[in-house]
Amino acid sequence: MSDTETPIQPASRRVFIKTYGCQMNVYDSDRMADALAPRGYVPTQEIGEADLVLLNTCHIREKASEKVFSELGRLKDLQGEKRAAGGDLMIGVAGCVAQAEGEEIARRAPVVVMVFGPQAYHRLPDMLDRAQAQRHLHPSLKRAVIDTDFPQEDKFEHLPPAKKEVTIKRGLTAFLTVQEGCDKFCSFCVVPYTRGAEVSRPVAQILGEARNLVEAGVKEITLLGQNVNAYHGLDAAGRSIGLGELAFLLADIPGLERLRYTTSHPRDMDDALIAAHRDLPLLMPYLHLPVQSGSDRILKAMNRKHTAADYLHLIDRIKTARPDMALSGDFIVGFPGETEQDFEDTLTIIRQTGYASAFSFKYSTRPGTPGASLGDQVQEEIKTERLHRLQELVNNQTSAFHASCVGKTLPVLIERHGRMPGQVGGRSPYLQAVHLEGSTDLIGAIHQVEIIGTSTNSLEGRLVAAAA
Ligand code: SAM
Ligand code: SF4
Repeated sequence: MSDTETPIQPASRRVFIKTYGCQMNVYDSDRMADALAPRGYVPTQEIGEADLVLLNTCHIREKASEKVFSELGRLKDLQGEKRAAGGDLMIGVAGCVAQAEGEEIARRAPVVVMVFGPQAYHRLPDMLDRAQAQRHLHPSLKRAVIDTDFPQEDKFEHLPPAKKEVTIKRGLTAFLTVQEGCDKFCSFCVVPYTRGAEVSRPVAQILGEARNLVEAGVKEITLLGQNVNAYHGLDAAGRSIGLGELAFLLADIPGLERLRYTTSHPRDMDDALIAAHRDLPLLMPYLHLPVQSGSDRILKAMNRKHTAADYLHLIDRIKTARPDMALSGDFIVGFPGETEQDFEDTLTIIRQTGYASAFSFKYSTRPGTPGASLGDQVQEEIKTERLHRLQELVNNQTSAFHASCVGKTLPVLIERHGRMPGQVGGRSPYLQAVHLEGSTDLIGAIHQVEIIGTSTNSLEGRLVAAAA
């Protein structure tokens, strides 16, 4: 009997899933909860009431994996308390730290009974059975169940469909993974090793999942992938289609009002996708397009295979197609060999591009990547100082972008109660948080809102016209 054919058991156990890192992990955590539902597990937000705790980990920077080991120390104490009270707690580690460190996790933290990578979570019920079967063994005979294979089968095919009641709880916006893994091998990055080769989901699977989400009340979908615009899934006729064409197919789903995607690579931004931004009003004018550095020398050492000028030219093409496109990016400071001039080149490309927001990181050496064996590592204090200068520039650009919205009327998807009584909150097309006075009846639709003020992280608005 396969995992998905497991007889449904009454909900009696609770699982607490702690998610680290990117949105793809958020999506994966929801799928793990779906995979466990037939075994009678319901998700809980209270770690104290959990029978099973899963840490869905991130390995992108060093601090991310160290956090996991500190958390395992705390969980060991919690397990001790539960056992003293006659209960128990099972602990599993999933995600990219699990993929990268495998057995090492079980060796360093014997409290862990399951270690499994991002490609194995559809086998979670089976792993759980194998871990539970060892329950009454002498501790010296117990072995953690480890599954870090990259399977041939399609994990998405083997998962139960996302439950509608779970989806409703997720609200009006949802993530949908369309592509995983990466073949680009940037010299600083662990993703090709932890997530494996680039794989795209078939079109029919994505359209089916999107329809289910919309039926359950979702108005806005964000398509996810490590390199989402490298998407090349097969359609029913066996034809490979790209993200631009996929966006057109998704746009035909009645009730889907907004579409976003992340994270994109500059080299995969093709004409069809740019045309989709020109022609599809539901494709939001906000694009996360990391460049990492503005120095051609460093871009070459990073193996990015594009120059600063290529990036700027691409931005011009995108803005010609969609003049109000707001941009976001990722930057790494202190890559090995980065000089003050290289860093200045990064500040220059930020000034030339003009970002609505950006994420920036100090370079973190990842064992096994080509960057780890490069000489000329940049001193920590220099990285810190450069990061501060870069973040100051980006923060000023974010404030300027917010200020440029004041006086405009924007469509805002109202998603929730606001921070203050009588307020509601939502998102602008440019992913900015917007707060306004208004009744909770506004929640669930896109309304016209005049922007009347800004604060550091959000906009203040006034309702102009409620949706019909
Ligand atoms: N595929 C996307 C791209 O190529 O732009 C990025 C995905 S990666 C998971 C997210 C971000 O983490 C990267 O854009 C990069 O800025 C950052 N990152 C990756 N490895 C890093 C490292 N070793 N040190 C610091 N930041 C890193
Ligand atoms: Fe990592 Fe992105 Fe480079 Fe792939 S393209 S190796 S995910 S930074």
